Amino acid sequence: GLANLKLREALSAAAMRDQLTGLFNRRYFEETAPRELKLAHRNGKPLALAVLDLDHFKRFNDGWGHEAGDEVLRQTARVIVECLRGTDIVCRLGGEELVALLPNSSAEDAAARLQGVRAALAALKIRLHGRELPPVTVSIGVAQAPMHGQDVAALLRAADEALYAAKAAGRDRIVAGWRVEDHQSVDADAGRWPSVALADDGAVHLSWYDASAHALMWGRFQGDGELEVAEVDGGGDFDRGTHSSL
Ligand code: GH3
Ligand code: MG
Ligand code: MG
Repeated sequence: GLANLKLREALSAAAMRDQLTGLFNRRYFEETAPRELKLAHRNGKPLALAVLDLDHFKRFNDGWGHEAGDEVLRQTARVIVECLRGTDIVCRLGGEELVALLPNSSAEDAAARLQGVRAALAALKIRLHGRELPPVTVSIGVAQAPMHGQDVAALLRAADEALYAAKAAGRDRIVAGWRVEDHQSVDADAGRWPSVALADDGAVHLSWYDASAHALMWGRFQGDGELEVAEVDGGGDFDRGTHSSL
């Protein structure tokens, strides 16, 4: 009967959705991402994958309680869905880690739309029990198929790498993965490549894995021909080091 049908619909929706945020869940992502990738390939269209991670999210839990953390997650998820297209697929992979699939988008297109997400989050005011919570910021890593990866795992790795660079560069920013095939410092076996991001002040930020030093490196290029280089340790803030030229 009708009640039965409604129940079945509700159950299948629940199987695809994350309870807290209403976003698609990891299972849905795992089923859908390979399909979207195949579709993009067949149509000769780019597909962008973005990994979004809330900045210092633990502070909301520690300072304001788990309930506040949950509310921040709910509201952040809502803002992201509102800012993206209806055809974009936003999933909660777990914890405060979200992933968005953006069909028909290059990494640049995706980064531009995700700047809109950052702006909306900056304007978001979350109140809980009459008190206003501190602002929410996210760091975002973006990768594009097939440029940065041909399968879902490779794309996720590339986006994660870009996310790591965004965290290391000070959080609250977007980094797009950038594959440079014949760059000297690329460790192709380890699947690493430089990430490039344009900073607000117009400088170009680069990060890459230095195989011989076994270290993630960070560089800032200001257009005067000089590249500032520093070693990044464990996602901490950028600590300026030696200078060398390109
Ligand atoms: P970073 O900027 O480096 O990402 O810092 P962070 O504090 O966000 O990073 P970390 O990954 O260490 O902390 C994530 C925290 O998210 C830890 C965990 O307790 C919390 N968390 C994960 N899932 C939930 C949830 O469903 N609700 C709430 N309230 N907290 C959650
Ligand atoms: Mg995290
Ligand atoms: Mg986080």
